[in-house]
Amino acid sequence: GAVELKTEEDKPKVLAGGGKIITATEVKVNISIPDGAKRAFETGADGVGLFRIEHMVLGLPKHPMKYIKDGEVEEYVQKLYEGMKVVVDTFYPKPVWIRTIDAPTDEFRAMEGGEDEPIEANPMLGFRGIRRDLIEEEHFRAEIRAIKRLVEEGYTNIGIMLPLITRVDEVRRAKQIIMEEGLPLSKIEFGIMVETPAAALIIEDLVKEGIDFVSFGTNDLTQYTIAVDRNNENVAYLYDETHPAVMKLIEHVIKVCRKHGVKTSICGQAGSYPKVVEKLVRLGIDSVSANPDAVERVRETVARVEKRIMLDRLRDE
Ligand code: PEP
Ligand code: MG
Repeated sequence: GAVELKTEEDKPKVLAGGGKIITATEVKVNISIPDGAKRAFETGADGVGLFRIEHMVLGLPKHPMKYIKDGEVEEYVQKLYEGMKVVVDTFYPKPVWIRTIDAPTDEFRAMEGGEDEPIEANPMLGFRGIRRDLIEEEHFRAEIRAIKRLVEEGYTNIGIMLPLITRVDEVRRAKQIIMEEGLPLSKIEFGIMVETPAAALIIEDLVKEGIDFVSFGTNDLTQYTIAVDRNNENVAYLYDETHPAVMKLIEHVIKVCRKHGVKTSICGQAGSYPKVVEKLVRLGIDSVSANPDAVERVRETVARVEKRIMLDRLRDE
């Protein structure tokens, strides 16, 4: 198992100004609301590995599709733009990966104006993530327009990340819409979340569509791999992000991505577990993104693992 730091001497010696540990594997931070950007930045994180924009949207006075139906799409784009700008600007020039909207129908229904949301027996397997954005295409276009505005202002640190990918045509269609909106893919980083077994198993095909990065959404990847609803208390005892099946999928994806020069990252909760971090760093993951309060700890774990890898190599020579 992972060895915990016990004394000051055990700590990695590679320190930068302010005592921040430098690691080869980047340590990033997850963000849910623009108001959290400053605190997240102060962790010294190497960027934002996941900006969950749905929290910002669920807090709006009106359901997003209502803005669109009421002919107020520009007002909605403006709101997205303002929220995104706070995060993108706070971190500039460090990268910010903005995830397109991903909330299940039950969460949308709970918001102001959400009464028209469909009632689903299994919201986690339902109308959410990329599938929703490709049906409610006007919504996806609004997100892209908000990002395009930032790109036109000169921000070069933006990534777009698609949630709940299961199919090649989802990536293809999303790219097509981004281009139709006049946002050149060369001006952003483009990536997908790997949070379904389907995405992990067809990663070779997804990579061929042209993606810059993947990020493991282990919260979802776990529930879909081992058939345990992440919100169901009755089976919570089975919810294990370190299940060998989950780890095998991740290992496969990292191997394929490394072969093709696609960056890999993790933004699920498992990225804060020392044993998982150790395994992923050894597999060659490029970054780990954690909640603000975990960034420091993850950075220490990464540094310790990297040091051990280097020492092992020296010994082997
Ligand atoms: C995940 O599924 O691991 C993830 C980071 O996305 P979310 O928790 O928002 O579903
Ligand atoms: Mg998820």
